[in-house]
Amino acid sequence: MRRLPIGRDGMYVIDTGSWRQFRPVVRQADCTRCGICLMYCPVNAVRMSDGEVSFDLTYCKGCGICKIECPKKAIDWVEEGC
Ligand code: SF4
Ligand code: SF4
Repeated sequence: MRRLPIGRDGMYVIDTGSWRQFRPVVRQADCTRCGICLMYCPVNAVRMSDGEVSFDLTYCKGCGICKIECPKKAIDWVEEGC
């Protein structure tokens, strides 16, 4: 089981993905790979590889900062479970 980040028991990992109610989805055709979403994500969940942006859903907590900060508005917002 994943546990809280830092406390009496030391440092461990928190599964912030379990907080998410919405998830970001990039429209790759509109993304310019500027990296701004990567810089703003508070849990470092944005990945850029092979010229495509993706999100690590283990840690993406669905805060929406990437969507708000994307200058191209290339990130859609999808409700979990839909
Ligand atoms: S929704 Fe929040 S946590 Fe998820 S990738 Fe975007 S900025 Fe990071
Ligand atoms: S901020 Fe928007 S345009 Fe820039 S890399 Fe992220 S998704 Fe692509």
